[in-house]
Amino acid sequence: MSPLPDPPPLRGRGEAPSPASAAQRGRAGEGALGVRRKETPAQRSAIMRAVKGRDTSPELAVRAMLRTFAPFYRLHRKDVPGNPDIAYIGRKRAIFVHGCFWHGHECQRGARMPKANAEYWRAKIAKNVARDAAHQAALAAQGWRALTIWECELKDAAATEKKLREFLG
Ligand SMILES: [Zn+2]
Repeated sequence: MSPLPDPPPLRGRGEAPSPASAAQRGRAGEGALGVRRKETPAQRSAIMRAVKGRDTSPELAVRAMLRTFAPFYRLHRKDVPGNPDIAYIGRKRAIFVHGCFWHGHECQRGARMPKANAEYWRAKIAKNVARDAAHQAALAAQGWRALTIWECELKDAAATEKKLREFLG
């Protein structure tokens, strides 16, 4: 599961969001006085995706790959530990697509920390990492195998597809 949204797309590449922007997302669609702004349907669905942290662009990219060779996946199943982004129920295979910042990946993007409120973000991300580990353990305990695809890996589409094929093969 990607419980949190990717960093806002309008910011610089790989730049982590500020706490203020996260707070704003939590009240997406509301103005300063809590009055709902009017959004177009496209804006509205973009906001909903950001708030729920699902159907993010890395997730969509992985799903597009899977459709070509393993299309019978289920999305965000609540009855599977960790509500994986993608699950093959019969085969007990779960795939998580993780944003490097939010899930504390050990890569350049994941290591980047906002200067403002760094401790706040560090604690938040540590919590996500711990939760991810708990999900992996719960899945393993029920006989599932899990694969994590990191956002940064998607730069190499061929390698990612190979990884997915091997995992599902
Ligand atoms: Zn990464």
